[in-house]
Amino acid sequence: MDFWIRQTSTASPAEPGELLCWFMATLTNAIADKLTYRQIAALVEREYGYNRIRAELIAHTEVALATSRGNYAHSVLIGMKVKKWLLSNDPGVCSACQENAAQGWIPILQLFASGVQAPSQHAGCRCDAVYLLNAPNRTKAP
Ligand SMILES: [Zn+2]
Repeated sequence: MDFWIRQTSTASPAEPGELLCWFMATLTNAIADKLTYRQIAALVEREYGYNRIRAELIAHTEVALATSRGNYAHSVLIGMKVKKWLLSNDPGVCSACQENAAQGWIPILQLFASGVQAPSQHAGCRCDAVYLLNAPNRTKAP
């Protein structure tokens, strides 16, 4: 989060904390308005002066967080009882994500090994999670 505060803004806020509030409001509104990840990236690039690569990373991360945390909240609300971390197929997946995936099925209210309730683990994380009423039976067919 500190990189948002250090970033120069074209909006020229009075103080760094104000920039953070504006930035978070922009992202919240963009997601609520159902902008695509590319539209959010373009908005971040244009309004806050980030380069395209950073703007796309921010957009991806925020959309992934909103989607994933929403899925988690909905799953708890409808009574799902277990969850499992789905590791990204991207090369170089971090050790925290690997440890979360290695846990297999865990109770839905338990934190993953890394200390998060649901993906994303970090900026750019492409992992996901699945939620069920019961963990699948682990017995193998003969
Ligand atoms: Zn991940």
